[in-house]
Amino acid sequence: MLIASELKNLLEPSELAGLDITWLAAAEPTPKGDYAAIVPLLSRWVGGTELKNLPNLRIVANVAVGYNNVDVVAAEMRGVMVTNTPGVLTDATADLTWALILATARRLVEGVDLVRSGTWTGWHPEQLLGLELRGHTLGLLGAGRIGQAVGRRAPAFGLRILYTARSAKPDFERDAGATRVDLSRLLRESDIVSLHVPASPETKGIINAETLARMKPGAMLINTARGDLVREEALAHALESGHLGAAGLDVYTDEPAIHPRLLAAPRTVLVPHIGSATEETRRRMATIAIANVQSVLGGKPPLTPVYG
Ligand code: NAP
Repeated sequence: MLIASELKNLLEPSELAGLDITWLAAAEPTPKGDYAAIVPLLSRWVGGTELKNLPNLRIVANVAVGYNNVDVVAAEMRGVMVTNTPGVLTDATADLTWALILATARRLVEGVDLVRSGTWTGWHPEQLLGLELRGHTLGLLGAGRIGQAVGRRAPAFGLRILYTARSAKPDFERDAGATRVDLSRLLRESDIVSLHVPASPETKGIINAETLARMKPGAMLINTARGDLVREEALAHALESGHLGAAGLDVYTDEPAIHPRLLAAPRTVLVPHIGSATEETRRRMATIAIANVQSVLGGKPPLTPVYG
């Protein structure tokens, strides 16, 4: 089997017992061969060509909850299982979302830059004024595991919560005081819009020039889901023009490249796709991926399949 070599330190030898492993570095292309399993990072595309080159493949065990790097339809047609790592990264990603909300609302990076530059002249009543969270509205675009975990942390900050999802979430509404609305109302009423839907053909570019224009003047956009959801040039324009107040981003369309206009845009907090980056979570993600492989190669059903 093929395993991303970057996972080596996160796995115990006992988890790998009985597996014939070829470690595959992120920079290496996916080889051809009679491998039965592949455990890729989300940066590796596994599509029709890769599946054709791996004719004996039985499972793609993705080390992420998102699986937009895998052509799931092509895999299903070939009878190849696809698994992901849901649940174990929910809290870590929700926490990072809050780190971005707070850093963006309170202009943390600008403050750090000012202190480090040596040009801070002292307390000033109008210096780096940010958004007071209490009394404002957080709009969650997507309220699955991570969206809800973000929302459940919001009442402590005094935020009103709106959300969109394909189905209603009565428990979430009761526990967090959240209200389900359509996308138009979410965009119109939210002071902070946070993205928590998967990247798919339906959601690609959902934040574009037209939807950005429908956001409240001065509102903030937070994205810890996937870069494909956002048209980065349009976002840069909305920040440059001042229509959007700020953006906090963990994910980008063409990682690790970041659109140059977005890099140069004002009022951004940009971090390098670290949503799930805690020691515990990354170990659990690697462990689930390998457990899926062990299960399927052992003739049992996968633990966390993405289809079927
Ligand atoms: P999830 O539990 O499957 O939740 C997805 C949510 O999106 C659900 O509310 C779902 O609605 C909604 N949704 C799905 N397709 C939609 C569509 N076409 N239109 C509108 N809403 C749609 O997923 P999750 O575990 O919360 O993860 C969400 C995403 O976060 C992942 O797909 C991944 O891309 C991203 N992620 C990023 C990081 C990071 O490192 N930054 C880490 C983990 C995850 P229903 O509930 O009604 O089905």
